[in-house]
Amino acid sequence: MEVYYKVKLDEKINDIEKVESIKKSNVYNLSNIKSNFQYDNDEILTFSLDCNNIVKEKNKIFKKIKHIKNNNINSFQVVVFNYNKNNELHIFDLIKSIKVMLLPTILEKYNYIYDTVCDYLDNEFAYKNICEFKDDKCIAKRDFNCTCGCCRHFKSIFSNEIVQCKYLINKRCSTKCITCKMFTCNYIVKNKKIKFRIKDIFLLRKFLNPVQKLIILISYFTSKEKIIKRLLICR
Ligand code: SF4
Ligand code: SF4
Repeated sequence: MEVYYKVKLDEKINDIEKVESIKKSNVYNLSNIKSNFQYDNDEILTFSLDCNNIVKEKNKIFKKIKHIKNNNINSFQVVVFNYNKNNELHIFDLIKSIKVMLLPTILEKYNYIYDTVCDYLDNEFAYKNICEFKDDKCIAKRDFNCTCGCCRHFKSIFSNEIVQCKYLINKRCSTKCITCKMFTCNYIVKNKKIKFRIKDIFLLRKFLNPVQKLIILISYFTSKEKIIKRLLICR
């Protein structure tokens, strides 16, 4: 089965659109992309991806994708051969990786990786109802009085008192802290066996260096803007 995707090159996430058909001129097989890969910026940039063995081949294909460079284009297309719904996560990881390579600026690349991963985490928490909030109390804190809406508190080094994060406004997080989003408490890890690790999130594993990964691991209570700034400094 053959499936087609169109992707726009802006910072929007959730932008991989499945379409009925596409116009093709040259089609570049992702498995054969070379280090000197070039294309014309007036062509409809189209890649092909074979899903047979995608799990085994994913890392190899990613290495090829790293050769793709931006050339002032604003969209691209992908033809997927031997499509299988079970492989959709891998297909999307690779298409998103192409998009990262084709976005024109470093800031756009990091914003896209950051927002895409946050969106994935938000969906996982919502879809799996991980924290099971009821009357503003999560499953792990049912017996406590805290209904503030965020479980990440910290002890002030000055007063030794538990203080709330400055980004918690009206029971909602007013920023997009990827580190907080990846957090699951001991209750969730123990009882639901859910723990989000960098090595399991393809874009983080593949595009960030060890120092950037550490930044993602430790930047609790921090705004998206600050985390992105740290990632850019350490790239
Ligand atoms: S991670 Fe644990 S403590 Fe935090 S909101 Fe979810 S269930 Fe509650
Ligand atoms: S930044 Fe983290 S600790 Fe602060 S409100 Fe948002 S989720 Fe809670």
